[in-house]
Amino acid sequence: MIHYGHDGRFQDTMQVCLNGHKITQYHISNPRLRRNFCEECGAETIHRCPNCQEGIKGKLWVRGGVASVYSVPVPKFCHKCGKPYPWSKSGKVEVIKASNPYELYKILDIHPEIKKVSEKLFRNGHYAEAIFASSKRIINLVKEKTGRPKDKKSGKELDGAKLMRKVFSVTHPKLKINELRTDTEKTEQQGFQSLFAGAVMGVRDPKAHSDITLDNLDKALEYIMFTSLLARKVDEAKRTEDEK
Ligand SMILES: [Zn+2]
Ligand SMILES: [Zn+2]
Repeated sequence: MIHYGHDGRFQDTMQVCLNGHKITQYHISNPRLRRNFCEECGAETIHRCPNCQEGIKGKLWVRGGVASVYSVPVPKFCHKCGKPYPWSKSGKVEVIKASNPYELYKILDIHPEIKKVSEKLFRNGHYAEAIFASSKRIINLVKEKTGRPKDKKSGKELDGAKLMRKVFSVTHPKLKINELRTDTEKTEQQGFQSLFAGAVMGVRDPKAHSDITLDNLDKALEYIMFTSLLARKVDEAKRTEDEK
């Protein structure tokens, strides 16, 4: 079953299970070695790139060459189109993403308050809205913990970035994320003040996230995880009012 080309070579294909176990590197030349399913893990097997259908490279036969038992390593990426095979780490993520992005959401350890407002939206594919709701929840968590501080001049309830700058200020904070004694602690407070302000800037405008689709939902997950981190910081933060 070996048909050498004009150059005296014949590229065999490799059969691999979806989890990356090599079945055979002699897929064409020795059909008896083929398996529909992996004997090690039970997963389905393939011998072509799922994206471009190019054969996965197995043994390269050379006419008159010494019969060698060289074991060809299982490639991680397709040599033709460059896409990761399903068994490579990024390939696995792509498979989940394409089939069910909600699976990715579920395996992340998202703060329960953020989960409450974003899960249903994310599951239904409303990624921009899920981010919007998560950021809004951060604003409300901060408001709830600090008793809804007001602007001294106007008497209006503080909101958005202004609220965050006030609440996490280094000199007169309402919430302290550490003891604020050393320079390092003060710098950390200042850093989170900026992160909180940044997380809620532009939140009033959902168009800020209108570019998020299924193609870049990594971004949506990153935004949501970011707000999840901030929600945890709000949990841990101490209220300065309690100290008085
Ligand atoms: Zn397997
Ligand atoms: Zn390919």
